[in-house]
Amino acid sequence: MCSCHRTTSRAQLGLSLPQAPLHCIKPDSVYVVPSSEGISGAAVTMENVAIFDSPGKGRGLKATKEFWAGDVIFSEPSLAAVVFDSLAERICHSCFRRQEKLQKCSQCKFAHYCDRTCQRAGWAEHKQECGAIKAYGKAPNENIRLVARLMWRLDKEGSVVSDMQLITVEELEDHVADMQEDEIKELKVDIHNFLDYWPRNSKQHTIDDISHIFGVINCNGFTVSDQRGLQAVGVGLFPNLCMVNHNCWPNCTVILNHGNQSAVNTMFHSQRRIELRSLGKIAEGEELTVAYVDFLNLSEERRRLLKTQYFFDCQCDYCKNGTKDDLKLAGREVDGVKPSEQQVKEATDYCFQKLETMDKARLDGDYHQVVKICRDVIDRTEPVLADTHIYLLRMWSTLSEVQAYLQYFNDAAEYSRKMVEGYMKLYHPNNAALGMAAMRAGVNHWQAGLIEVGHGMVCKAYAILLVTHGPTHPITKDLEAMRMQTEMELRMFKQNEYVYHSMRDAALQNKPMTMLHEPKGVEEGIKNLFHRRK
Ligand SMILES: [Zn+2]
Ligand SMILES: [Zn+2]
Ligand SMILES: [Zn+2]
Repeated sequence: MCSCHRTTSRAQLGLSLPQAPLHCIKPDSVYVVPSSEGISGAAVTMENVAIFDSPGKGRGLKATKEFWAGDVIFSEPSLAAVVFDSLAERICHSCFRRQEKLQKCSQCKFAHYCDRTCQRAGWAEHKQECGAIKAYGKAPNENIRLVARLMWRLDKEGSVVSDMQLITVEELEDHVADMQEDEIKELKVDIHNFLDYWPRNSKQHTIDDISHIFGVINCNGFTVSDQRGLQAVGVGLFPNLCMVNHNCWPNCTVILNHGNQSAVNTMFHSQRRIELRSLGKIAEGEELTVAYVDFLNLSEERRRLLKTQYFFDCQCDYCKNGTKDDLKLAGREVDGVKPSEQQVKEATDYCFQKLETMDKARLDGDYHQVVKICRDVIDRTEPVLADTHIYLLRMWSTLSEVQAYLQYFNDAAEYSRKMVEGYMKLYHPNNAALGMAAMRAGVNHWQAGLIEVGHGMVCKAYAILLVTHGPTHPITKDLEAMRMQTEMELRMFKQNEYVYHSMRDAALQNKPMTMLHEPKGVEEGIKNLFHRRK
């Protein structure tokens, strides 16, 4: 049992939700808002952590002091990062912000920037790339671009670019020896194209060195999201972060904070940085861990993913004991009566089968078909399956997302609420995916005019994101504004429903809460910590 001051901290935050998961927040830590632009009071040194030999895992990082929920353990700029091939014309290559209108680099015609300020800020990492793309005649794929950017930087600055860097790229694992045959094949093609792309007047490297760096980014390349953290837009390398080992029930989370990118003036846009944030109380000497894969997978599936993608066998207690696996495939108990094993199995199989057709319709943008599939599956399986059943949860999640997009807010609200309730029984109380789900549910309820639940969900999301994203992250700021708006509306609603409804209609016409994105691919960046090649 921890000695946190739950009631105090909740009161200080002005949160009214009884279940607001402010578990272990150090009472005085929440309101420390930094004076500097952007970065959230982040520890810019690495003195809070130490490398150690983690039993059974090899190298790891441990805390050298005590931490509380929401503390920034360290923050780290990327050594190099690139925008995905598919988004090269829609994302700024310097600040990774999504923009309607970007300016093309007049030399290579490939790099795109918000404006001259971003272009100047990105010139050091683009300069050699620019010449190479021009000479090569086109831009090579994102892996090759990332490896080249890394090599140019290391050739110029040496293997340690700052005194905060705990490990060099040479020292990072590449797992080339563990690769499957098809991965080796792809690696060879990439190396071949890299050699064509790499200029003759740049420093020349051995094939072994080049393949090492490809191997490093293959298992350590971190998914870089846009400024709101809603979409995966690129991939980068953060060497210190690579030292943090996995645990299925981790004590830390990692979030990208681009700094103050809501600022119109790009002078205030800052470097791409990750922050390692504490999810609860961490004792001095404790190992720091993050989850490489989503906990919503069954333990067997998590172990398979970790083995094939990161080449290790997870030995965590949640895997060993299969913790919560039963809930994830459970039947629904009604008045003490459980469905038979056979019924649960049939419903599970049916749900699983339909996930693929649903995903396909979703990718095709055929949203009415998605609704049809989800409704059919939910009608058939909801009476049999528990609200923690992971396939049913995916149906609810997708249906609510699509219905919100199609502006059927009552439906969207209902299914997103079910999703959040299921997630709460499965996830760590400070899980970022739970926070994002609560935010979606809050917006859906607000849109549907269900202000009481809406406000509660927004508060819940805000409490989680204060821990996982921190008070200065753009999405936390969005939530803060939503929290104030819904709080005011709720007060009004309680005083006079008529006034509330007329005010709401006006508000909807003036500035709708636009947190809703087109459904396809939205979940991408949030669930995969490290970028995997498709
Ligand atoms: Zn920019
Ligand atoms: Zn260029
Ligand atoms: Zn595990």
